Amino acid sequence: MKYVDEFRRKDLAQKLAADIKREADPDRSYNVMEFCGGHTHAIFRYGVQDLMPDNVRFVHGPGCPVCVLPIPRIDAAIELATRHNVILCTYGDLMRVPASKKNSLIKAKAAGADVRMIYSTQDALTIARDTPDRQVVFFSLGFETTTPPTAVALKQARAEGLKNFSVFCNHVLTPAAIQHILQSPELRELGQVSIDGFLGPSHVSSIIGSQPYDFFAEEFQKPVVIAGFEPLDVMQSTLMLIRQVNQGRFEVENEYTRVVTRQGNEKAKALMAEVFDLRRSFEWRGLGEVPYSALKINESYADLDAELRFEVTKSTGTDVKGCECPAILRGVKRPTDCKLFGTVCTPDNPQGSCMVSSEGSCAAYWSYGRFRMDRIREAAE
Ligand code: SF4
Repeated sequence: MKYVDEFRRKDLAQKLAADIKREADPDRSYNVMEFCGGHTHAIFRYGVQDLMPDNVRFVHGPGCPVCVLPIPRIDAAIELATRHNVILCTYGDLMRVPASKKNSLIKAKAAGADVRMIYSTQDALTIARDTPDRQVVFFSLGFETTTPPTAVALKQARAEGLKNFSVFCNHVLTPAAIQHILQSPELRELGQVSIDGFLGPSHVSSIIGSQPYDFFAEEFQKPVVIAGFEPLDVMQSTLMLIRQVNQGRFEVENEYTRVVTRQGNEKAKALMAEVFDLRRSFEWRGLGEVPYSALKINESYADLDAELRFEVTKSTGTDVKGCECPAILRGVKRPTDCKLFGTVCTPDNPQGSCMVSSEGSCAAYWSYGRFRMDRIREAAE
């Protein structure tokens, strides 16, 4: 197949649905965690869950970088923009994520802070070049996919001698989060959700390759299939997982061979290794502190680290009362389990990160209308 339309063909989807129905053992259930928010959106946008038999269920994971950023990090960014009077540059999704005290970056901007939405790290560098009398901080976040461009920006700033540019680094790592989920007592011992296998991330894996997943496939005896973002990718990968489960295998398989290799992108990995070190621990919304799950700017680029250049206090802000984002990000609740979903919390009035981000589970449940009318009816009764 060459064109994206071919990965959405109805006849092939029907054939895959029939294969899944035939091969799924009716005497057991299959809980498949899709790590990425991109997969969650593909599942709801194209109605993939509706094509599955009742015993094949998708469990939504924490693979939305905006969603997993905890409130203290957003509070810190707001503090950079307000107390330190910097030009704070970041991607659009983050602007509306609720911080503590009902604040957000966009509200801080409305109140006078210089917060600017950018499309790439290059935009932040351009702003720094154009305003040499102001400090410019790039609020960077994301999984391994968005980390190499941050590394490039740091190298460029160093090469150009840009003294007014720095990075507030919030890059996180996928394998550590998956391992943490598998070790979670909530999932392992209490048996709230037993995950039978993972749909591995697409874009992240294009950088890190399929090899890093070997450890926990082996250690935790869970199959992983790296899946593309189109509906046929998700369905084909689900079929591959079901086959592994049925055959008692726990291997890393790669459905997304048109992009992902075993070793990944060596150039991008070398760039990351040159500029970043592992953090000993980092807080994730929903998962808490996860050891070795994030990156910090290393010593050789320390002068471009906003956390060292500016004094930032660690807030104790917590999620809005009633918001179930933490449990949703752990895969133990669904957006419709949240009493605020579709009533108080909508994309126009988000109460939690999962409703803001274009990769968030709550946004997926709401955006494609599958649960919207139910909630509107319930609220009217
Ligand atoms: S619906 Fe809103 S309040 Fe509820 S979990 Fe999702 S983001 Fe949080």
